[in-house]
Amino acid sequence: MTRALHGTLTPRVLTALREILGGDLLLPGGGDFERYAKDETEDLVFLPAAVARPSSTEQVSAVLRLASREQVPVTPRGGGTGLSGGALPVQGGIILGMERFNRIIAIDRGNLQATVEPGVITQVFQEEVEKLGLFYPPDPASRGSCHLGGNLAECAGGPRAVKYGVTKDYVLGLEAVLPDGEVIRTGGRTLKNVAGYNLTQLLVGSEGTLAVITKVQLRLIPLPRLRKVLLISFGSLESAAAAVAAVFQAGVTPSAMEFMERSAVRAAEERQGKRFPNGDAEAQLFVEVDGNSEEALAEEASAIAAVAERCGATGVLLAEERQKMADVWNLRRGIGEAVKSISAYKEEDTVVPRTNLPALVRGVKEICARFGITSICYGHAGDGNVHVNILKDRLDDAAWERNADAAVRAIFELAVSLGGTISGEHGIGYAQKSYLPLAVGPAELRLMRAIKQVFDPGGILNPGKIFPDA
Ligand SMILES: Cc1cc2nc3c(=O)[nH]c(=O)nc-3n(C[C@H](O)[C@H](O)[C@H](O)COP(=O)(O)OP(=O)(O)OC[C@H]3O[C@@H](n4cnc5c(N)ncnc54)[C@H](O)[C@@H]3O)c2cc1C
Repeated sequence: MTRALHGTLTPRVLTALREILGGDLLLPGGGDFERYAKDETEDLVFLPAAVARPSSTEQVSAVLRLASREQVPVTPRGGGTGLSGGALPVQGGIILGMERFNRIIAIDRGNLQATVEPGVITQVFQEEVEKLGLFYPPDPASRGSCHLGGNLAECAGGPRAVKYGVTKDYVLGLEAVLPDGEVIRTGGRTLKNVAGYNLTQLLVGSEGTLAVITKVQLRLIPLPRLRKVLLISFGSLESAAAAVAAVFQAGVTPSAMEFMERSAVRAAEERQGKRFPNGDAEAQLFVEVDGNSEEALAEEASAIAAVAERCGATGVLLAEERQKMADVWNLRRGIGEAVKSISAYKEEDTVVPRTNLPALVRGVKEICARFGITSICYGHAGDGNVHVNILKDRLDDAAWERNADAAVRAIFELAVSLGGTISGEHGIGYAQKSYLPLAVGPAELRLMRAIKQVFDPGGILNPGKIFPDA
């Protein structure tokens, strides 16, 4: 039987926290305390009672032991870029800010592996391994500010997942702290490991609800030497969406295949003061191919162009120069920020089998028209993963309140009816938890709740997430 949680801290708990953390405890009014009340999810704000910024596994363990004993909620936090509210302290208590766990402990060139702490910024890690000719592909568009730990907790993807897989495909082992303070080590440094249940992969994608990750063993691969980018324009969203599956059917696997509708491109152009080539097209596909043979890449690029033309492309542009490719990548990576700055919004992370992408984008537009809501779609089309942003825009508050939830529900029902699900890479967290039963059946939900109960019988770790309220 779960006991009630205490979102505010007693003087006794505060004294104990000070003893564990010394000066690395932030209280209301101190420093950048208020930053910890938000992430990048809509306009949600939840203030914690305290922010702990540990720098050792022992400190994490001591904080969790104390919190378990005193029934205080603890919410782990990485870079705070989450889009499902996973790092929000929705029941108060302690934020465990993991930013001081920021060491790349070792890069093992012999085995193509690295040992890292979870607070390392993803892009910093990628650039460090690239200096050695190695590649860590998971590349959320937020890679300049998100943490590897947050990426593990959400099983983050990104554009390159289409060829190289998502975060889970690179995690070999973990050190983590259970809610009662016990330290566990899962997996290891081998590429194969079937000794018992796969606890490593259970923790990846568990959204900080089962354990706090304190050390990670990652797999790396050799860095491809060459890349080319194609920007392909289309006269309709559906023809762009239909071209996606056709490219794979033609036997080509791009290293990125992104879909952008015109309003997404416009938003990025306006925010960055730069122009996308073909920016007036109704929709564009941003396609990258990579490898080590110039000839093979040229063949792949022309095969993609030929398929796109058969699917009705109105223009194909090739970027081969490093600077040009960097420019279009920056525009693409800037879309998320730009769309969010337009108005109040909700971002839905729908994913369907690739061949159902045209039906998804058509259905989303129909649903949004029915509710009078503006939508902007873009995302990792090669994975069938479309980020549907619905914007408050010119709707008055009452209409937005009335229609937003119904529109989101209809969009999720559509994705599920097309063989898809309600989140491909952003997680369920706080923002999507009421919709989880649309995608997960009662028996599976019961198993998930039972797993949570085994790891966290007191329910102190990241409460109020993933599971719909009873
Ligand atoms: C502009 C923009 C673009 C984005 N693009 C992408 C994209 O392309 N692909 C993608 O997948 N996501 C994307 N995201 C979403 C987000 O960046 C990812 O979900 C990212 O993985 C979150 O990492 P973070 O460090 O910011 O985690 P946070 O937001 O701080 O936390 C996310 C979750 O991780 C948990 N957590 C954090 N650290 C730990 C730890 N050490 N142990 C246990 N749990 C922990 C938290 O409790 C929370 O539940 C984007 C976000 C933005 C704002």
